[in-house]
Order: sequence, then structure tokens, then C-alpha cells
Amino acid sequence: MALASLTTLSQSSLQDYADCPRRFQLRYVERLAYPAVESEPALENEQHQREGEFFHRLVQQYLVGIPSEQVSKLANTPNLQRWWENFSNAIDLLGFKNLTGLYPEATLSAPLGNFRLLAKYDLISVRENKTIIYDWKTYRKRPRNEWLAARMQTRVYRALLVHAGAHLNDGRPFEPEQIEMVYWFADFPNDPARFAYTSAQYERDWSTLLKLADEIQIALQRPQDGFPLTDDEARCLHCPYRSYCERGVYAGKADEAEAELEADESFNLDFEQIGEIAF
Ligand code: SF4
Repeated sequence: MALASLTTLSQSSLQDYADCPRRFQLRYVERLAYPAVESEPALENEQHQREGEFFHRLVQQYLVGIPSEQVSKLANTPNLQRWWENFSNAIDLLGFKNLTGLYPEATLSAPLGNFRLLAKYDLISVRENKTIIYDWKTYRKRPRNEWLAARMQTRVYRALLVHAGAHLNDGRPFEPEQIEMVYWFADFPNDPARFAYTSAQYERDWSTLLKLADEIQIALQRPQDGFPLTDDEARCLHCPYRSYCERGVYAGKADEAEAELEADESFNLDFEQIGEIAF
């Protein structure tokens, strides 16, 4: 594949690069199909992933104004019913009763070095004194806050909202201190993870992102040795490219690493459909 075809970076591709440059190369540069299942049991994991994606659609339907009673009829599996019930009970708590200032499924994009950085948000809620990024998670285990804080998603979503979200704030860029990111867990509804933001964090995040983009650009110019295999072989256990790297045949258990196996939604986004772009 021509190098020029890699024009976009996302939280998922940057996370892959940070975890294992070789995985980034196989997935985003060479765009290789997955030769191995990521986790066992494969079918159950696939079903859980599909239900998770459907749950996101149910919440989106509600947030664009479809009555809750109508949406609940679509929750037709035990997981979906439980998740929807937990979400319905949290609506007041999350402050969504009045649907004003909510931007579900918002996509933001901005230049990052020679690339564009792209992020698709489950929900951005703009209130008078606080703007909250919500992300719905259907994990079977509640990840630790320290782990979430270090994830590219937490860093990219907050930084990009500061960098490219002015159109959601009457044309004025958000102050980092106005922003908070909340992971709400459908199976742990009373234990969301909340991450505030500061100007110092924003400066650090944006310069880290620029540095990564520069590194990737340099690596693309010498792809034979620019994307080394990770030294941390534990990462290979759930990696679908194990057979390419001779790093094992059998997959690890899904619930041990499902947070690391999320699909990259922005991978297939069509730029023509993105309205909110910072230049
Ligand atoms: S198997 Fe291991 S070394 Fe190979 S791409 Fe996956 S994480 Fe990287």
C-alpha cells in the first residue's frame, strides 16, 4: 500500500503505535486482515462486541429525542436489557433529562503534523460551566482509573476538544479547565470514571501527540525497521497478528483484555461526512 494512503490518526491507531509499532504497521499501514482470533471464546466475544455496538446505537437514539419507552423495546437480549435499564436509571444522574446542549456521535478533526487527528465521541455535553465528554463502555470488568487515565483515548479526546471544538462553544475554544471526561460503564452504572483537565495537561498531551505523529512519519520513511515488535510479549496474547510475528498461536481470554480490543470506529469514517473540522 502506498505510504500516502495513511493520512489519518485516531486514538486507536495511536494506542496501537504506543503498544506495539509493528501492530500499527500491520493494521494501519499494510491494512492486513486479521489472521487470528483476538480472544477466546471467539463467538461469545463477537456477540458481546456486537451487543456493545448496538447499545451505543440505542443511547444515540434516545439522545436525538426518541422516547425512552420506544428505545427500550429494541433492547432485546439480556445484556442489552440490563444495560438499557442501567442507562435509564442513570439519565437523571447524568443530567440528560433535558436534552439541550448535547452533541451525540460528534466527530472532531484537526491537523496533527503531517496527518489529521480524528475522534468520534459518543457524546459531548456542553453546559454553562462544564463541558463533559461521555464515553459508554460495556466492559465485563471495570478497568482501573490509572489505566484509563493513561489511555490514548482519554488524552486524545480531551486535547482534541480543546483544539478543535470552538464551534460547539460559540466560536471560542474551550478552556481545558472547563472539560471533563467521563467513562460510564453499562455494567457498573454507579461507578463512572471521571477525568478533569488542566492547561498543563493539555500542553503536555498535545506535544506528546505531535511527537508521536512525527515519529510515525519518520518510521513510514523506513518501514523495514521503523516499526519494531513490542518487547512486552504479554501484549501479543490478544493480538490478531500473532502468526505474522511468531508470537504464539492461542488467543488469550477476552475478559482479560477486552478494553484493549475495541474496534477503531474512526478507521472507516468518511471525511466527506465530517462537518466539524478545525483548519
Ligand atoms: S503479535 Fe506482538 S509483536 Fe506482533 S504485532 Fe501483535 S503485539 Fe506486536
